[in-house]
Amino acid sequence: MRSKTKSASAILIVCDGLGDRPTADGKTPLQAAETPNMDAVSEAGINGLMDVISPGIVPGSDTAHLALFGYDPYEYYPGRGVFEALGADMELREGDVAFRANFATVDDSMRIIDRRAGRKGSKELADALDGLEIDDVQISLRNTTEHRCALVMRGDNLSKLVSDVDTHVEGGVVSECRPLKEGSAERKTARIVNELVRRSYEILNKHPVNEERRQKGELPANILLLRGAGSYKKVTSMHDRFGLSAACVAGASLYKGVAKYLGMTVIPVEGATGKSDTNLGNKAEAALNALRSHDFVFVHVKATDSMGHDGNFEGKKEMITRIDRELVAELKDADAYVVITADHSTPVSIKRHSSDPVPVVMKGEGVRSDEVKHFDEISVASGGLCRLKGLDLLPILTDFIGCYMMYGT
Ligand SMILES: [Zn+2]
Repeated sequence: MRSKTKSASAILIVCDGLGDRPTADGKTPLQAAETPNMDAVSEAGINGLMDVISPGIVPGSDTAHLALFGYDPYEYYPGRGVFEALGADMELREGDVAFRANFATVDDSMRIIDRRAGRKGSKELADALDGLEIDDVQISLRNTTEHRCALVMRGDNLSKLVSDVDTHVEGGVVSECRPLKEGSAERKTARIVNELVRRSYEILNKHPVNEERRQKGELPANILLLRGAGSYKKVTSMHDRFGLSAACVAGASLYKGVAKYLGMTVIPVEGATGKSDTNLGNKAEAALNALRSHDFVFVHVKATDSMGHDGNFEGKKEMITRIDRELVAELKDADAYVVITADHSTPVSIKRHSSDPVPVVMKGEGVRSDEVKHFDEISVASGGLCRLKGLDLLPILTDFIGCYMMYGT
């Protein structure tokens, strides 16, 4: 039985890829950044390290967020394409298969010249493919940011178990989509994908938008590459599972997509870009407004992860300092439980996600404050939360809020 004696609300601040490893001078970007506000939360709260999926497992951002919201990714992960499509405000029905797609540039022999088509997409080019029908399958396509798109296939007997049509490197020839399992749905989906890629070249290569691009010396966006197939299935919302009315404040579409998948309200925020120029002040304001009508407000900042992928120590440090000053300063004394954490580590030294556990702190009424005074990967290790898993976070939080699950009598 889940108690309904809810008496409080919570803000979960996720700094994407925040965790790191010490560099030559012995400090992580989080240790090197100026973080008086995060430190104040640490001093007042209970701290620990968190393996967001499991020790040694390197989390993707998508699976990691499911875990942070209390959904076991091994059970609930639908595949990345579903989140991209939901984040792009596309409608999904049970059985639909969704992909991440991107415009790319190929030569006449299908050799990839630029898998991002000069990082430039076009609504007009997406519209030229949107609504295509191949056999009984309907294709919907939307250009999201730059060269990126989300694609939905609707038809009978489709499967997400097909390979990517993206060599992930320049110079190679566009690969064939293959079934990843022996089955009629997999064979059919792979066939439709290959036909779609072929037709995308036919339609896009001669499109007036691309003629114009060529004349200006730009790369034509003359083919669509597909990857990250996902299969949509409705899941029990956070409200129905945990009794929480939840809201999301994020810039990047993936996180809005995860939030929609779990039934959160996605709050539009002016200037929230998902990049380092994102307007953190507007995000803080949106989060405080959302808190008036929601029990749980998720606030996401992407740029810490991007800096890690770029190997940019100074950039990551500066972004953390900004988050502290412009976001945490505004939210730390809200009338709510405040949690600060990350979805995974993205160490600047290796420029990719790693399994290093992430710091986590929780502050609010009744929390057993520990001795930790600084919010960083090393200091929090001696805190009262010790070492927990991502899936543990939400149950701990819901107990404080009063939406707890009791086992036994
Ligand atoms: Zn991430």
